[in-house]
Amino acid sequence: MMKSLILCFLNLLIIFNINIFASENDKSFQEQSMLSVLYVQTSAEFEANNIQTYNSAKDILDFALSDDSWTAVLEQKSNYADKPPAIIIDIDETVLDNSKFQGRTIISGLSYPNGWIEWVNEANATPVAGVKDFLEYTDEKGIKIFYLTNRLESLRDATQKNLIKLNLPFDTKEKILFMREDPDERDKTSRRELIAEKYRVLLLIGDQLTDFVSTDEAYVFHKERKKVAKKYDQMWGKKWFMITNPTYGRWEYSLYDQFPESEEEAIKYRKEVLKR
Ligand SMILES: [Mg+2]
Repeated sequence: MMKSLILCFLNLLIIFNINIFASENDKSFQEQSMLSVLYVQTSAEFEANNIQTYNSAKDILDFALSDDSWTAVLEQKSNYADKPPAIIIDIDETVLDNSKFQGRTIISGLSYPNGWIEWVNEANATPVAGVKDFLEYTDEKGIKIFYLTNRLESLRDATQKNLIKLNLPFDTKEKILFMREDPDERDKTSRRELIAEKYRVLLLIGDQLTDFVSTDEAYVFHKERKKVAKKYDQMWGKKWFMITNPTYGRWEYSLYDQFPESEEEAIKYRKEVLKR
């Protein structure tokens, strides 16, 4: 009971993008993400890992295309063999690299959502390594590409502009960009189902568990989250491809079994997890 209340509170914080830690005077809390952001921005290892993921996804695409019993969407259960093929791909940290924005938050000491809308409107995010090549290959095969993001509907034009600016495949004749229409609804399941009504979905690609499963399944404490990853061990690297995101995400919220009320408390909880 207590846990579900805490989860409910955590969800509210996330839904309303409340960051109780944002403070202009003390940058030390935001600075804790410095190494992970630098890893994403500068390391050859991260670059290689993303190219590796997209090369593997490319390799599997032909096989998935030829096997009409193949679907990557859990909700797609029957009558899909004759549907045209598609893939569903998340945007932030899967297609677009926002680490420059993350860097700004470390320098300013103010975290998301401060400055986020300005950053999106600049439409200057760069592509994640390997994604352009993968999406062009997918497009050449006649496979429809659906972008499924939790960016708010109000950011649609800027998002589309950024993708087109990078010359990524973008079909303007059909609705292939799915945003978060209801600010309170972060679950992507119903949008995946909508796509799966018309298409056979070959692959899912994302950087968060919720790019593959429901929020009900993914919004749990960290030990349970790892069990969810294990539960789908037959999917990873076959139908589902995960891009590593060490800089932010639900994984961080899942560290706290009581939501911290201050930066000091958050640090205390983080250290407790380390000791376990
Ligand atoms: Mg993402």
